[in-house]
Amino acid sequence: MQKFNAHMHYIKPEEVFEYKNRRLTHEDMVRQLDGNNVVGALVMYCPPKILAPKEFEKIDIFSENIGLVEALDADKGRTYIPFAIMNPKMEDAEEKLETLVDDHGFKGLKLIGVFDGIAYDKLRWVRERWPHRKFVYEDLIRKAGELEIPTMIHSGWEEYAGIEHIEPLISEFPEQTFIIGHMRPNDRGAPRAHVELLKNHDNVYLETSYIDHTDRVRQICEAGLVGRVLWGDDFPWGGGNILHNSRVIGDAVLEGQIGENEAELVFYKNAAELFSIRQM
Ligand SMILES: [Zn+2]
Repeated sequence: MQKFNAHMHYIKPEEVFEYKNRRLTHEDMVRQLDGNNVVGALVMYCPPKILAPKEFEKIDIFSENIGLVEALDADKGRTYIPFAIMNPKMEDAEEKLETLVDDHGFKGLKLIGVFDGIAYDKLRWVRERWPHRKFVYEDLIRKAGELEIPTMIHSGWEEYAGIEHIEPLISEFPEQTFIIGHMRPNDRGAPRAHVELLKNHDNVYLETSYIDHTDRVRQICEAGLVGRVLWGDDFPWGGGNILHNSRVIGDAVLEGQIGENEAELVFYKNAAELFSIRQM
């Protein structure tokens, strides 16, 4: 079955990604994509290792975004959909996003609260008390709407990054398309939070990395919402091999929890439709 990886960090030819005691190269990435029949991917810049917010701030992410599309231009083997990692602390962040989309072919915006040290809704609460605090995500999301590109939002681990914190933010933009990165329930996330989110917002897609149980996909299928689930892996994070972080999607098929047709939608067809990729 052909696949589109809806969450991947692209290791450029000259780069190495280090995680714990593993080193992954561009060649490792290509081998894995080929080996798993991944014909396309939503790709983002890949830092050389996991970075704390203080370290991440030192990276010139605007230039790194441009470096990513330059590498993609030379890689003709697959359909790549580049998303620009941006954060509101960058000077002229909205103008830079516009440049990346108009001049460099970016097709989406990616927000990662844990890298930025910005919480999705905590800061909105902070802002009400201290109106001079200016780091919030709304302006970038509004700009993404003007540019007619979707916004992907990292969810999961840290406090204030659960679905219940992201939902108030995206509720402000019912006309825009969102992809929620990762399907990991945080500590307080109710098991049905993802299903409810899809039910409540027909402009929202879920990307499956770190999904923890086959039941979750089955529930989404039963609710008739499988058309908005995108298989993604978050390579090279986690296990560092493609399929690792979403392996329960494959398990769900093997266990008969979801059918072949539903699996095809999740692995490829939903993404192909969302990104207008010509289907083979
Ligand atoms: Zn990621």
